[in-house]
Amino acid sequence: MNLLANRVKQIKPSFTLDMVTRASELKDQGEDVINFSAGQPDFNTPENIRNAAKKAMDRGDTKYTSGSGTIELREAVCQKVKRENKLTISPDSVLISNGEKQSLSLVCQTLFQQKDEVVIFKPYWVSFPEFVALADAKPLFINTNPQKNFEPDIVDIESILSNRKKVKGIIINSPSNPTGAIWSDEIIIKILRLAKENNIVVISDECYERLVFDKKFVSAEKLNQKNKIGANIITCMSMSKTYSMTGWRIGYSFGDPIIINGMSKIQGQATSCANSISQAAAVEALLGNQDQVSFMIKKFKERRDLIVSLLNNIKGVNCELPGGAFYAFPNFEYYLGKSFNGKEIKNSFDLSDLFLDIAKVVTVPGDGFGAPAHIRFSYPIGKKLINDGINRVKNILDQLN
Ligand code: PLP
Repeated sequence: MNLLANRVKQIKPSFTLDMVTRASELKDQGEDVINFSAGQPDFNTPENIRNAAKKAMDRGDTKYTSGSGTIELREAVCQKVKRENKLTISPDSVLISNGEKQSLSLVCQTLFQQKDEVVIFKPYWVSFPEFVALADAKPLFINTNPQKNFEPDIVDIESILSNRKKVKGIIINSPSNPTGAIWSDEIIIKILRLAKENNIVVISDECYERLVFDKKFVSAEKLNQKNKIGANIITCMSMSKTYSMTGWRIGYSFGDPIIINGMSKIQGQATSCANSISQAAAVEALLGNQDQVSFMIKKFKERRDLIVSLLNNIKGVNCELPGGAFYAFPNFEYYLGKSFNGKEIKNSFDLSDLFLDIAKVVTVPGDGFGAPAHIRFSYPIGKKLINDGINRVKNILDQLN
């Protein structure tokens, strides 16, 4: 008998964590490593949020909460969604989870089962296909166009939907990890219309909704309502990136109460509820002073402009300007097939390994996101480190032949 269930074999380990582990091993050996792999802001959680957590502990908010989250936090989510996303929702259609990662995993567990198919766009956040596989369903991948803001061609989606009858869900993620791209309202509206016509649920991962630089972000649900489309959307959002709270593990989802209740039922058996202290802190984050968010956005925008211009100054490298999040996703195709010290660089894994082993620069290879020839640079690090890191990358590339 096999010790482990098939589902363990079915899913891939997180290769992003693998890069982080290798980087910390090098650091422990005393190497001067520059890390572009962390998917989190470099700032501490703002003081008002930290203080709210301290007060919650002293008050005794240290017990289990209601399974779907404290009423204070669900109401705070409703107020935030009204203020920022211009949507009116009620606390019974909100579920608080242990990070948005759990929200996304729960929605897949709640909706999908064997024989169901779920559309995922390439490049994708590494966990999407694994959430779908863990629900015993099958991911269907659709390519996007890097020159067109990493948007898909609607014809490709129409063609998949007309050929396959078992598509039950579509996952969208704008602003995106790994590309940082923000899709146009037009493409999202077209996808919502197709989803409505084909009775498909849309899972909208809006983890980076507040980290946008050049225009105001519009939630898919807002576009849905404004255009009277009537698609069924579960929107998932996170405290992690906006408030620099990755370790606090709070995310939330809202949408059709039937689906939200299903998710809550599974969560209740899996983890009971989200951390009570983090929930109290999240209320302050959502309703308190937002100056720190504006400060971080300003810093990220400066760093984005710097890293994109440095990357585009390297011969043969092409990096689109990402509209949000904190990732740059340049194309290194020009260098694939070249060699370093006689060893051929065949793909983005080899290139990323070279950056790490020789230049001591940690990046994440695009092949892992379904995007060959690309490499993800996460830039929430200071400008000096960005300059030094990209300079090291350039020096290595200059030595390829
Ligand atoms: N969605 C995307 C696209 C992400 O990049 C992440 C985290 O990296 C998450 C969701 C999950 O965030 P968290 O679980 O920290 O709320």
